[in-house]
Amino acid sequence: MISVQEALHKIREHCTVRPPVLLPLHESGGFVLAENIAAPTDSPHFNQSAMDGYAFSYDDWDGNSDLTVSGEVQAGNNYSEPLNPHSAVRIFTGAALPSGTDTVVIQENVLKKNGSICIKDSKIIKGSNVRLTGSQTRKGEIVFQEGHLLTPASVAYLAEFGIQKVSVYSKPVISIINTGKELLHQGEKREAGKIYESNSFGLRAALEQMHISPDSVEMADDDERAIEKAIRNRLRSDILILTGGVSVGDYDFVTSALEKCGVKLVFHKIRQKPGKPLYFGVLGQTLVFGLPGNPASALTCFYEYVSEAISCLTKKTYFKRIHLPLAESFSKKPGVAVFLKGKINGNTVSVLANQESYKLNSFASADCLIELDEAMDRINTGDLVRVLQI
Ligand code: AMP
Ligand code: MG
Repeated sequence: MISVQEALHKIREHCTVRPPVLLPLHESGGFVLAENIAAPTDSPHFNQSAMDGYAFSYDDWDGNSDLTVSGEVQAGNNYSEPLNPHSAVRIFTGAALPSGTDTVVIQENVLKKNGSICIKDSKIIKGSNVRLTGSQTRKGEIVFQEGHLLTPASVAYLAEFGIQKVSVYSKPVISIINTGKELLHQGEKREAGKIYESNSFGLRAALEQMHISPDSVEMADDDERAIEKAIRNRLRSDILILTGGVSVGDYDFVTSALEKCGVKLVFHKIRQKPGKPLYFGVLGQTLVFGLPGNPASALTCFYEYVSEAISCLTKKTYFKRIHLPLAESFSKKPGVAVFLKGKINGNTVSVLANQESYKLNSFASADCLIELDEAMDRINTGDLVRVLQI
């Protein structure tokens, strides 16, 4: 048996970042950038009116006199005529400022008189209501660094520059195989001794938190040949996750089936609770995780280990670790690391009731896992503990 730290180290050691892929911008949401992106232009790339109103030259206005309205510029049009002295141009939001103008008075603040306007705006200053060229971004400025997660706003921002393709780290292809003779598909009739398969639901939703959808989700009976066959079909995945059958029971065939498929064992069993029987192996670039079947163990091992592998492959941290004072004291046996379902309340974190690994009720209201290291025994109220926010 190895420690949590050794296990994480071995996982990281086996993660090789895949070559980046070039994606059309409209498909890139949720991916992580594999390149720095420099702004190809200023943004905005021309002076724009921020409001509907009248554009004029501030220095050409004496603060009092009327200005003649000499034309109009709609958003999308270009006003190319020279500006007459003491005149203004009717303008709308997003329209390019005619050359010679530098200030916009909003239409609510003018009195219109027979082809001219009288400005009634005591607060107006030079440059009012104008979005200046480059006021958001300067040409050549680094818009995003390599490693940036492309959020919806990021994608829209890049589109503003006319960027059509981006280089991103590809999302890993992930397959899930849930093993267990007792497992029923949703919709199947409830039977004595059987339970509805639930692990894949938690795992899929946790992957969705990371903007990843599993490539395949399937079930296999507790039968070595059946498990072997299912594994062989999925050995081209980047990450293969199995649940159940990874312990020492007479019907736990996952480790032997993996061996028969040529998967090289890296470690099996960690000094931790829950999730002691966690298996990790590799075949070529495929990382294989055998998670214990108990629902809370499977999900805990996902957050602690599988997500770490995904982070390495995509070069992105998905779940944050912070330190918080523990709300009430807690005791554990030294020699085993413990992951506890926890809840953050303002500046402290509490250990929830129902920590047994077959129970999901506390996990369902948890917002973090409290990570207690192997050496710890008693943690007093107010002591800082490490917390993985999920
Ligand atoms: P195992 O790891 O196969 O010994 O299973 C441990 C416990 O987890 C047993 O009570 C199983 O019935 C349960 N279990 C295993 N796989 C699943 C699953 N996919 N969904 C829900 N419970 C499961
Ligand atoms: Mg089983």
